Amino acid sequence: MYGTGIIKGLGVTLRHFIQTYVDDLRWAGKGGRYYNDEAFAVRQSTQGEGVMTVFYPEEKLPVPERFRFVPFLVTDDPPPGQRWGHDWCTSCGICAKVCPPQCIWIERGKLPNGRPKPEPVNFYIDIDICMNCGYCAEFCPFDAIKMDHDYELAGYDRTTAHIHDKARLSKPLSYWQEIAPKRAEAEEIGRQLAEAAKTKKKSEDDGPRAWPTRLPVNCPIAARSTKTPRVQRRRKGAKTPGRALLCVFAPLRLGVKFLWSTMTF
Ligand code: SF4
Ligand code: SF4
Repeated sequence: MYGTGIIKGLGVTLRHFIQTYVDDLRWAGKGGRYYNDEAFAVRQSTQGEGVMTVFYPEEKLPVPERFRFVPFLVTDDPPPGQRWGHDWCTSCGICAKVCPPQCIWIERGKLPNGRPKPEPVNFYIDIDICMNCGYCAEFCPFDAIKMDHDYELAGYDRTTAHIHDKARLSKPLSYWQEIAPKRAEAEEIGRQLAEAAKTKKKSEDDGPRAWPTRLPVNCPIAARSTKTPRVQRRRKGAKTPGRALLCVFAPLRLGVKFLWSTMTF
């Protein structure tokens, strides 16, 4: 029959409409159905009844760990009484080079003797241009730049408010561990393994070197070199015919050359 689909659809809407009020009554004694974390979790689950709309900005859906918004700079957790911790960024400039829309500017620090200091004096990102691709975070060799979860950056100023400077970009490591615990842990393990490998290599390099006096038996170069006819002849003590001929013909060739030059002079 024509129109049954429309009636069914309207029935679903009506059911949700009524269930919303029923749910309101159910949560009335427990802090209400809205702006209540417990009720929100139920409403967003498969057990949710009635209208499931998220009442943003009072209610917000949690973002997944791999969510990425504009970048921020990682610093050490600040020591007690200080605002900033040590910068992880060494101002190497790799992130600025790989950034597709070129929205990163870095001002490198200088030591008193004029040599570059591995720390940025200033670090700017124009987040109006940033396309949240995450290349900077991916390519940074020091894990010093990460993608943030803070997406509420709207503002009324269209000139400088969205050019984030170093003070605005810097966030402590504990913040990164809070928003991306699994990735932060994996990175920490990677850093520890790299550090252990570096220490091991350094101790090996610093220790006494045992240079091999002979090539190993299974070395392909050694195998090849001992198989050549010349090496085998020398090992047997046989005289090389090529060398004997050279001893005879070299002086002869020199003499002919001398005679020829005197004749043509
Ligand atoms: S954030 Fe990383 S890649 Fe960018 S300058 Fe600093 S250390 Fe280099
Ligand atoms: S996320 Fe992409 S566009 Fe934004 S600063 Fe990093 S590399 Fe540039």
